[in-house]
Amino acid sequence: MTKAVFIDRDGVINEVMTSRVKHVNHPSSFYFLDGALEGLRELTEMGFSLFVVTNQGGVGLGFLQEKMLKKIHEKMVLEAEKAGGVINDIAYCCHKPHEGCSCRKPSPGMILDLAERYNIDLTNSFMIGDRETDVEAGRKAGVTTVKIGGEQGEADFLAADLREAAGHIRAYEKIKGRSD
Ligand SMILES: [Mg+2]
Ligand SMILES: [Zn+2]
Repeated sequence: MTKAVFIDRDGVINEVMTSRVKHVNHPSSFYFLDGALEGLRELTEMGFSLFVVTNQGGVGLGFLQEKMLKKIHEKMVLEAEKAGGVINDIAYCCHKPHEGCSCRKPSPGMILDLAERYNIDLTNSFMIGDRETDVEAGRKAGVTTVKIGGEQGEADFLAADLREAAGHIRAYEKIKGRSD
């Protein structure tokens, strides 16, 4: 079975709500956060399959076309690959925030779907996100959770950025006797 890291996108991999980017609505407004590319590379090197799981309610609300979202993701995958990080797949929820779908985080739908599709061992997998809703989705899916920034809350670990999150996961794997 595959071990995976599920990674939230906005605020974990790329900038949002900064001076130069409010929402990412074009590949040119996609800026990797400090430590993101290194974190993706390190997690790949640790033998994890990486999956981005992102709420993109802007699509359902009409602010962003799905075609453009795919272009943004193509850039993300390509740049990550150049830096040695492999993103295996991307799941996104395009529904409106209050539509009541089963995929929008804090629901675990996207994680559970990917787990089934890719034969993922959730007990040996992780969710990294910058919101409580990411942590909640991860907990509902039964993975170990890492929160980026702010308060740790219900998360298993707290990290400043994706590289630090990868460090926590490496140390945790070692303790669990799963390191290579
Ligand atoms: Mg986020
Ligand atoms: Zn949805």
